[in-house]
Amino acid sequence: MLKRSIAMVRLRCPRCLKGKVFRSLWNTHDICPECMLEFKREDGYFFGAMYFSYGMGVALALPTTIFLMLTNVSQWLAFLIITFQLAILSPLLFRYSRVIWLHFDQYFDAR
Ligand SMILES: [Zn+2]
Repeated sequence: MLKRSIAMVRLRCPRCLKGKVFRSLWNTHDICPECMLEFKREDGYFFGAMYFSYGMGVALALPTTIFLMLTNVSQWLAFLIITFQLAILSPLLFRYSRVIWLHFDQYFDAR
């Protein structure tokens, strides 16, 4: 379990835990360069990653929202700050949601 967690943090393949999932900031490899696992199994495969992206986005925005509510910042400024925060973090949300989805799918589907 620890190896899998480390592989997820390092954005690695869910099967071999060594191959890189991404070939650039926004693009995944089609197959794992180490074990040849097919990452994109079908069209729309990464749709499920949106659930993880949404959850992580809420988890990141909620503390900021609570903090801004306690500081009496206007709603529009709070909206702009949170939107900016999520825009800045979108590459991380994108990449980690896909990798978590791959690991989730591999864990439950490969058994
Ligand atoms: Zn692999």
